[in-house]
Amino acid sequence: MFTLDPAKPLSLANPGRAQHVLVVEDEDLIREMLTLALEEEGYAVETVADGRSALNLLCNADANSGRSFDLVILDLMLPQVNGLDLCRLLRRQGNAIPILILSARGSETDRVLGLEVGADDYLTKPFSTRELIARCRAVLRRQGLNHLPQPMVLQHRDIVLYVQECRVVVRQQEVNLSPKEFRLLELFMTYPRRVWSRENLLDRIWGADFIGDSKTVDVHIRWLREKLEIDPSRPEYIITVRGFGYRFG
Ligand code: CA
Repeated sequence: MFTLDPAKPLSLANPGRAQHVLVVEDEDLIREMLTLALEEEGYAVETVADGRSALNLLCNADANSGRSFDLVILDLMLPQVNGLDLCRLLRRQGNAIPILILSARGSETDRVLGLEVGADDYLTKPFSTRELIARCRAVLRRQGLNHLPQPMVLQHRDIVLYVQECRVVVRQQEVNLSPKEFRLLELFMTYPRRVWSRENLLDRIWGADFIGDSKTVDVHIRWLREKLEIDPSRPEYIITVRGFGYRFG
């Protein structure tokens, strides 16, 4: 089951939206493997199995429709329009979308040809998903579209959280949080006003393997409120959203 992951790598072009990857690959297994690996990293993935569909999709991509893409992963050997031609066509149309070429062929000629027609990088099959993700990130980083920089300090009103120092200061007073409380607060402060269900919070902070129930979340929220709120019985920071869960701010 897939749930909406709030930690998706965000697009700089359109903050608040996950980076959108188009996978163009005619081999079902590889397409599925790529989709899983990318989704696991938080990318939003769309797939097509031939060059013509890819071309249609990319030419009709419209930033306002939410269907624009940040990266294309492009197999070379494709039915209808092959990867090299597709790449060449896009560049000729002035489309500068980052393209990562995949190919079973690993010869220097193909690599050079791929880059010559305007691809940004080239990966030879077989490859590890780790390498794939690293290449995707590198291509996106070079395009200046990579993840928003991770802030070192999160601040909301008079609460300051120092991410790397695992330290929290409330109204100029250092407070001691347990690791779970700290991670809960960090998550809240990273996504202010986002509503989290107890199940979401359990998954994110305790992990999917955690055996226990959502009461655990309520207990930690109560402890956090005691440390953060001026009046824990009338919370101003961690707000209960009836029927849904909690939000911060
Ligand atoms: Ca192929």
